[in-house]
Amino acid sequence: MTRLDIVEKGAPVLETPAQAVPLSEITSTRIQKIISDMKETLDSISDGVGLAAPQIGESLRIFLVSKRVLNRAVKHKKDDVPENLEDLVCINPTIIKYSKTKKWLEGEGCLSVRWYYGKVLRSTHVSLEYYDEKGKKQVRGAGGILAHIFQHECDHLDGQLFIDKAIDVEWLEPKEDEK
Ligand code: ZN
Repeated sequence: MTRLDIVEKGAPVLETPAQAVPLSEITSTRIQKIISDMKETLDSISDGVGLAAPQIGESLRIFLVSKRVLNRAVKHKKDDVPENLEDLVCINPTIIKYSKTKKWLEGEGCLSVRWYYGKVLRSTHVSLEYYDEKGKKQVRGAGGILAHIFQHECDHLDGQLFIDKAIDVEWLEPKEDEK
């Protein structure tokens, strides 16, 4: 696995709609290597919650949600859900349902747009259809931060950055350990 540099705003790959991954290639060495490099890269960034393939320079419809977010969500539940979840890998994702309820979510940021944060109008719940890293089709409903991340990452795959739709954008000095 290789830890890669994050592509920053201004790079054409972030403004270009990404290509679908052919289903027969999901389990190929090339795509599996990209996924493992993305995991390594996301893992190395302490405040990273999601990462889209264009952010490592690959114009492909793949994004990850960090296990940090998933395990945090599990801890808030009382029922018996297994912990130590792995990163969620979403290939060729499509949001198939948006809640009519939307909210201006505060503090949205992006690893490619350091260190700006702003408010973005997002649906509070969505359903995402995608292929997992084994090539199996999945549908997952989400609320809270997960719904928020799904929308942010799908925007990346369409060549859009949060900063283009955010209001009240602020630049916040990074903490010492995040620099
Ligand atoms: Zn982002």
